[in-house]
Amino acid sequence: MSTHINVLDMAREQLAVAANILDLDKGLHNVLAQPMRQLIVHFPVVLDNGEVQVFEGCRVQHNAARGPTKGGLRYHPDVDVDETTALAMWMTWKCAVVNIPYGGAKGSVKVDIKKLSKRELEKLTRRFVTEISSMIGERSDIPAPDIGTNSQVMAWVMDTMSMQKGHTVPGAVTGKPIELGGSEGRTEATGRGVVVVLEEAVRVLNMNLANARIIVQGFGNVGSTAAKLVEEAGGTVVGISDAVGGIYNPKGLPVHDLFNRYSGRDGGIREFKDAEKVTNMELLEMPCDILIPAAIAAQVTKENADKVKARLIVEGANGPCTPDADHIFSDKGVLVVPDILANAGGVIVSYFEWVQDLQNFFWEENEVNIKLTKIMRSSFSAVESAMMTHKTDMRTAALVIGVKRVADATIRRGIFP
Ligand code: NAD
Repeated sequence: MSTHINVLDMAREQLAVAANILDLDKGLHNVLAQPMRQLIVHFPVVLDNGEVQVFEGCRVQHNAARGPTKGGLRYHPDVDVDETTALAMWMTWKCAVVNIPYGGAKGSVKVDIKKLSKRELEKLTRRFVTEISSMIGERSDIPAPDIGTNSQVMAWVMDTMSMQKGHTVPGAVTGKPIELGGSEGRTEATGRGVVVVLEEAVRVLNMNLANARIIVQGFGNVGSTAAKLVEEAGGTVVGISDAVGGIYNPKGLPVHDLFNRYSGRDGGIREFKDAEKVTNMELLEMPCDILIPAAIAAQVTKENADKVKARLIVEGANGPCTPDADHIFSDKGVLVVPDILANAGGVIVSYFEWVQDLQNFFWEENEVNIKLTKIMRSSFSAVESAMMTHKTDMRTAALVIGVKRVADATIRRGIFP
């Protein structure tokens, strides 16, 4: 579905709504609607069978008014420069909403990683990093994991950049393994943040998590962590899915068990017998109280938003609900906690990782989690207040806060020269 919807148009439409509320100057709006830099690269990799394959990748920096740019590296067959630009723009607003000193960026390579060996994946990563090395660095633009990349890939990114510098640069990338300067709590940070804001939203809606049925789309890093933590918090996960499809049981699914048995293998969860097999799209429409889309963009659209049963949607993924779907949810009284708030836990702990690397002084997991929870709760509360002030939905309220902070920084800095 995501291939039919231009997510950059979606991101620009969201920006326009916030710009209108803020009465943003037209020139400033134009600055914020464009990425400051886009680098598209085509690079060769020698495959294990000796053949040379050319891959396309890009790195996009959207805005650096508030600090170095920050954003993940996505390896996926459907990515393109427009989608990467939208993701970079959302990173800008996300960092501003939770008030950490970064701008937004994103990188991507058009590749199906399932077709690569580990050695090929390493070579692709090292060559891609070299191609975009003029843009990235610990003081300029700091990559992190996203779909299709993980801590091992970040280790290769760090090593490649260190080889080029001639000394180790742990602060040049986040989401690294702990032994290479990664932060305790980073792997779980996005899912943990999702559950912190979910609990806040449950309180606002006067719901009871102990009675809530939850569906999670996506069983990767974000989806599986959110599913496990929401179960630990007392909720019942009734449906989950991965790229192959989903499973549903109104009585609940044993999330920890499913994770231990099937995580990391698309289609694995469908081997679980005690549940109904459903397609990804069917899963979104099954009975539940809370939906956590934690896979890819543009999953809930004008085609299916009306059929979603949840009262609360917490966006673990980036851009899972389109603006059309937002309107339908707003009319139905469904609360959508938007991506730029809900999944900010990842970049918050990436920020902690960067700070720890620059200082060479590392924190315990408990300290990381406490600091993360504090920022997520205070950001939720600020967005909730902005909702009341502007009498608007939660996405627009979050955008108003994020866009305003970036606009103010841009005005303060002035336009060079
Ligand atoms: P991941 O690669 O670990 O997992 C992605 C999951 O989505 C996998 O289970 C995959 O099978 C599933 N999936 C892929 N296509 C699907 C489809 N069409 N329908 C259902 N499931 C599908 O990725 P991740 O890191 O968990 O990222 C998930 C989402 O969260 C992405 O939108 C990403 O941008 C966003 N996000 C991730 C982080 C992070 O720290 N990892 C931070 C912020 C936002």
